[in-house]
Amino acid sequence: MAKKASVRDVRRSNRALLLRRLLLAGETSRSDLGTSTGLSAATVTSVVTELIEEGTVHETGFLDSDGGRRRVLLHIDPQAGFVLGADVSETHVSTALFDLTLSRLGSRATPFVGRNISPPQVGEIVGRHVGELLGEADVDARRVIGLGLGVPGVVEHPATPAAVVHADVIGWSTARFDWLEARLGIPVLVDNGAKTTTQAESWFGSARGAEHAIVALIGDGAGAGIITNGRLYRGASSGAGEWGHTKISLSGYPCRCGSNGCVEAIVGASAVLRSWRGRDEYIGREPDGIDALFAAQRAGSPEAMRALGEAIEHLGLGLANLVNLYNPEKIIVGGWFGDLMIRDHPEDLSAAVRRFSLKQPGEQAVVERSQLGMGAVTLGAATLPVDRYIESGFGPSTA
Ligand SMILES: [Zn+2]
Repeated sequence: MAKKASVRDVRRSNRALLLRRLLLAGETSRSDLGTSTGLSAATVTSVVTELIEEGTVHETGFLDSDGGRRRVLLHIDPQAGFVLGADVSETHVSTALFDLTLSRLGSRATPFVGRNISPPQVGEIVGRHVGELLGEADVDARRVIGLGLGVPGVVEHPATPAAVVHADVIGWSTARFDWLEARLGIPVLVDNGAKTTTQAESWFGSARGAEHAIVALIGDGAGAGIITNGRLYRGASSGAGEWGHTKISLSGYPCRCGSNGCVEAIVGASAVLRSWRGRDEYIGREPDGIDALFAAQRAGSPEAMRALGEAIEHLGLGLANLVNLYNPEKIIVGGWFGDLMIRDHPEDLSAAVRRFSLKQPGEQAVVERSQLGMGAVTLGAATLPVDRYIESGFGPSTA
């Protein structure tokens, strides 16, 4: 019995290895699959034959450029399944539908006012989005392998039915979403949004192939995902990466977490607008205000230049602390406000990171703008069910 189970486990893990490589490569050959996974040619041939018979993988004829030798390319059938990704930000719920190769088929976003959205309201919005997206694409819910949900805060037991969300800054001391699964009739997997976005950057974006990288996301708040040895670093109970609440000052306005001097209370969009306008008021997500700030800075306003200059300086300081702790090859900067800062001031930000880091790790860390941009958010959430589906070996013959 034990031996039988272990043969099946090996089979499943071989399928998972090959499917992961096929998904990340897009199109690849049997020989590349062997080289990249370390599996024998016989194993690759046998598993690929099985996947083709099941209809999960298709062959495409291809003429090799070097030497004209004909090689067959393989790819996962995009229509072999569908997946949903939903992200809860400070001010929006966004949902997108993807095919199995994570090409986006449609998306929805619903804004809400203030930071007071409850888990049942999130479920209601996501449920409406899912109904509309599936209807529009004419996809039966039974063909959806799962919905990934990215949320703010610390998620204990992520991507399991026991997931518990601790997001005190938006009033969720302990929130669960297991009920949403029953309501939608689709498996629901929950994780922290910065972590899911980091997974998207690692699979398809700027962190692709990087063994050691930081993905820093700055909007109204701030968060980070840390990749070490090619894997997302989680800590003891998945709380690692709450970089937005690490301290970079002993003074300043109070943070939503109840403390002072946090990264997000200094470099978050609201904090920077407050610094520019010189008054304390709740602003929330205010792209228009931020656009006005950047316009004033380009027009040479000394106040705008000071506010933005200080924000970039402090962002560099916060990132330099991560450089000294984790020695990343790359720092990818995203989030709607982070994207604007690095778009307009890449050199200033890189210089600030180097100035506050130790020399050796600081010189190694390349600071880059996210290639995926805001699309990484729902894509990241959708990687949760896909990751689980890959690990299961894509089902049928593993049973
Ligand atoms: Zn804080």
